[in-house]
Formats: sequence, C-alpha cells, structure tokens
Amino acid sequence: MQSIDNYDFHRKRAIVRFDFNVPLNEKFEVTDDTRIRVAIPTINKIFAGGGAIIAMTHLGRPKGVAEKYSLKHIIPVLEKLIGKKVIFAPDCIGDEAVELSKNLKPGDFLLLENLRFYAEEEGKPRLADTATQEEKDAAKKELKVKQKDFVNKLASLADCYVNDAFGTAHRAHASTALIAANFPNDKMFGYIMENELKAIDKVLDAPERPFTAILGGSKVSSKITIIKRLLDKVDNLILGGGMSFTFIKALGGNIGLSICEDVELAKNILEEAEAKNVKVYLPVDVVTTIQFEEVFKGNGNVETKISDIHNISDDAQGLDAGPASIERWRKIILESKTILWNGPVGVFEVDTFANGTLNIAKIVADATSSGAYSLVGGGDSVAAINKFNLADKVSYVSTGGGALLEYMEKVELPGVKAIKE
Ligand code: AMP
Repeated sequence: MQSIDNYDFHRKRAIVRFDFNVPLNEKFEVTDDTRIRVAIPTINKIFAGGGAIIAMTHLGRPKGVAEKYSLKHIIPVLEKLIGKKVIFAPDCIGDEAVELSKNLKPGDFLLLENLRFYAEEEGKPRLADTATQEEKDAAKKELKVKQKDFVNKLASLADCYVNDAFGTAHRAHASTALIAANFPNDKMFGYIMENELKAIDKVLDAPERPFTAILGGSKVSSKITIIKRLLDKVDNLILGGGMSFTFIKALGGNIGLSICEDVELAKNILEEAEAKNVKVYLPVDVVTTIQFEEVFKGNGNVETKISDIHNISDDAQGLDAGPASIERWRKIILESKTILWNGPVGVFEVDTFANGTLNIAKIVADATSSGAYSLVGGGDSVAAINKFNLADKVSYVSTGGGALLEYMEKVELPGVKAIKE
C-alpha cells in the first residue's frame, strides 16, 4: 500500500477526495471552515512534494445542478486557508476540466464543481417517487454503466488518487471508492483518513485499561450494533441521553413521557453486559420538564425538576442527566485510561439541558490531561465538544459521524477497502 508520506508527488497531478461539505449561510458564506482547515496538512504535503492538486468533493445533497450547492461559494475561504489562488472547473468532468487539468503546474490547486451534480457520484437514480420498481431497476442498470464512464473521466484528469474524506468513507461512491481501482499503484489515504483510522484502531485494538465507553444520543436502535461490539471491548459502559430511558424502563422504572424504544432489546443488552462482565452505568437522576414541546422548538425557558430516574412523573420527559448521575460517572471516567465518547447525554442544543453534556466534556478533558487517551466521535458529540471549546483538550476528535460508527462496528468501509486492496 502506498503512503502519502513516501509517495513521490513530483510533477504529479493528485486527484484528492476531500470532504469540503461545509455549512453555508443564506448569503452562501462558509460559517464553519473546520472541514477545510483539517485538510491543510494533506494539501501542504502534496505541494511540498512538487505536485498539483485536483480537489473533488460534494456539498450538500443536490438532486442535480443547483446554484445553491455550487462549490464556487467556498473559493474565498479556501484561497485564504491555502494561501493561493484556486482554479475552478465549473463542471467536474468534460472538456474544460480536462483542459484545466492538463495545464496544471506544481503547486496549482484546481477545484472541481460539486460531484453530486451528477447522479453518477452516488450511483442512485434520481426518479420521481411514483416510479415503478421496473423503472427503478432499469434506471439503476443504466446508471451503473454511466457511473463507470464518470469514474474514468474523473480519473483521466490525474496521475494519482488520494482519499482524505473520512466522513464519506462508508459510502461506495464514485469518488470515495470506485475511482481507486483506476490507480492500482498510485492510491493512498490523506492525513485525515490515516489519523482517523489510527485513532480508532488504537482504541479498539489495544486499549489501555480500564476502557470506558460513554454512549448517548436519542436512539438505542441506531447504535445497537456498536453497543454489542463494545461489550466485547470495554470495562465500563456509561449510557446516557435519550437512549438510557429504554434501559430504565427495562429495569422496571417509570420514565414518564421520556423517549423509549424496544425494551426487550435493552434487557437483552443488559444481560449480555452482565455475562461479559461489563459494568453498565445508567443515569440515577435526570432533569425533567413537562414543557418538553417548547424545548424541542428550541425554547429553554421552561420549568425544570430533578427526578429520580426511576420515578419520573407521568406527564414529564427527562431531557438531561442530573447532578448525581454526573458525579457517579465522573468517578468512572477519571479512573479510565481509554475513553470513547459518542452522543450527548441530554438535549445539549438547548442551554437549559446542556449541563450534563458540558460536564461530560469537561470530565473527559480532565481525564485526558491526567493521561487517559480519549476519542470523541459522532456528529453530535463533536458539535457538543466544539460548543464548549474543549476540542483541543481531548486526544482525538473524529470528523466522521456515520463512518466512525460503521468502522467501529467492524464494517469494512468501502473507501478504506478501496485503498487497501
Ligand atoms: P443521536 O443522533 O442519536 O446521536 O442523538 C443526538 C440527539 O439526541 C441530540 O440532538 C440530542 O438533543 C438528543 N438527546 C439527547 N438526550 C436526549 C433526551 N433525554 N431526550 C431526547 N433527546 C435527547
């Protein structure tokens, strides 16, 4: 396998799959440039080696060509961050892109227009909801052929391929996986991908013990595979947030109107944890409100009460971990040598219910400064750790939400496999 560290980029045109799917405001200005900033080491490495870059990425979820999702909006921020002019190809394939790529000189940066302007990128036909199964099958078949052509056209622009888009590595798209086959000896991960994989492997393959996973968020159902996998790895499992109520109910508690899913599933997980000697720490108290509908509209100006987790009143919902839960968790986290955190332990988007998640972030940061290795990943926990300005106080913040979870479930990510094989 090639590595970006050893590859000779001299006079090569590297087509790099970035994840520049940045948020834009209504004036089409980039409101958070993190995803571009983290790609700078890969960009600098290619330039330092004497190469040129052809950058490909998606932006948003366009259903075809749409001004709103044009990558030209990100050019000012990109130019500022890389410190040079960006050449722009208004179509990611076609004559103009070919011409521009031919003329690239070492140190040039060519940005291709949004890959998802073509259905070929994702390989999903764009049909009306009314399409019949037959029409869907035919369209899929036709698109598969077109996708090959799309991949070949993209590949023809460059001499080597770098994948640095961890956030989309769990998708078998043209630019994230299929294109790798066109560069059998000239394909590699960028630094973001490399670091992500290293961080996750470190936690899952050789964790220093005790190893504690903190899982939160709204749904058990979406995290069931990962919970089961973690039961083979961790010593302690802290379960908070919306998903914890299903477990409390499984234990016979009264959870009021708090969110609840498959109780049998929760029972099953608790039994498995016991059999595997994993200690499960559920919340013991919770911040509740009867005005939860207001909260989900973003209004935190509501009356709250702290309840015993097993005795929530029938008309209330639990929306944040209470102080006793935090104190109990604090002890476990501070004694841990490896910590994995995925998912907020409350509705942290609303300040009234952010305290539990803020405390988890602070405690994980404290444990890290005392020598633990901490990996924070998954969209919402990353948003939380950024909201509290603690991202640089943990060992590693993963940028890939879905990709991180799938990788931890030991699903072979198409974007990873395509480079490795
Ligand atoms: P997930 O996407 O499953 O990781 O869930 C993240 C979401 O869970 C966030 O938007 C939180 O607001 C939400 N959440 C956390 N705790 C609770 C809770 N107790 N009740 C309802 N939603 C919650």
